Amino acid sequence: MATPTRDPYEVLGVPRDADEATIKKAFRKLARELHPDVNSHDPDAEEKFKEAAEAYEILNDAERRATYDRYGHDGLRSGGFSPNFEGFGSISDLFDAFFGGGSGGAFGGFGGMGGAAGPAQGRDIAVHAEITLAEAAAGASVDLSFEAIETCAVCHGNGAKPGTPIVTCERCGGVGVLQAVTRSPFGQVMRQMPCDVCHGEGKVPSEPCERCDGRGREVGRRTLRVDVPAGIGDGQRIRLTGRGHAGERGGPPGDLYVSVQIEPHEKLIRDGDDLVTVLDVSAPRAVLGATMRAPSLDGDVDVQVAAGTQPGEVIVVRGEGMPRLRRPGRRGDLRVVVNVVVPRRLNREQRKLAEKLADSMTPENVRTEESLVGKLKRLLGA
Ligand SMILES: [Zn+2]
Ligand SMILES: [Zn+2]
Repeated sequence: MATPTRDPYEVLGVPRDADEATIKKAFRKLARELHPDVNSHDPDAEEKFKEAAEAYEILNDAERRATYDRYGHDGLRSGGFSPNFEGFGSISDLFDAFFGGGSGGAFGGFGGMGGAAGPAQGRDIAVHAEITLAEAAAGASVDLSFEAIETCAVCHGNGAKPGTPIVTCERCGGVGVLQAVTRSPFGQVMRQMPCDVCHGEGKVPSEPCERCDGRGREVGRRTLRVDVPAGIGDGQRIRLTGRGHAGERGGPPGDLYVSVQIEPHEKLIRDGDDLVTVLDVSAPRAVLGATMRAPSLDGDVDVQVAAGTQPGEVIVVRGEGMPRLRRPGRRGDLRVVVNVVVPRRLNREQRKLAEKLADSMTPENVRTEESLVGKLKRLLGA
């Protein structure tokens, strides 16, 4: 999106205390103006429409609106496991569900209604799940909660009040398509469009279902527990077939895509299957060598700092990295980068010792076989 952080109140042009009806009205009005089927002269119409639809999705949901009011867009994005909606599919589908095609076809074609009606697959849903690095390593079960279009529980999708018949649409005579003649600078143009009464189905319920207003579908909140496999990477997506929005007219449901985000760890950085950490070692310790503790995923581990360890040297602890995705038992390594810290703010006694040590240095103490390039690579971590 061009401007993902615009204030949704500003986008819809409503005051901050606007009630539900005002918000809905403002969105309807904007949507009519910006809908790509209507507004073909403004190249930005689709972007603006998406922005309006996203603003509406925030303000129309009491919980989401409250989160936005308190924490802004950041709050919506970082709400733990709460989902962030993205992808045009979800928005336009929710939009269709709210407004149907009941406004003279102005909204009908957004999802690409092609005239001939048949079972249409439901759209995909994208949600985010945020987990810790430890959860990514061990695998985790994540509870997701998100809005989805469901088949209406009362009419089971056919839009008719239970026990009432479905009859042939009178407006289009059951073909589902209307012929429209429009005048253009090039003369009269015949255009086919889906019937605005039956929305291309050719049949209409004689009495619409009261729960869904005859749409056959309704927006519901769904909760789902998703297993995240051990070793998953940041940004990887898990696809759950058939867990997306319900299909239309008996069509199959879409898919659910769970995009996994891994929170940064305080002490460990992931590099593929390896983990990297930095160990501060005082210069005298690096001179003498020592057994020290370095952070790992399962608590601290012992690392052997050899006598004479140089700044930037890497100690590899085998098998203490991330598990390899779908390869049980295999793990990467923990790479401990030694940061030799030169002591500062010495007291008098320490200073005396340091002077004594410095004075005792011989060329042999600082002699090295390392090449210039080798030294640079070590110091730059390359
Ligand atoms: Zn219904
Ligand atoms: Zn019709």
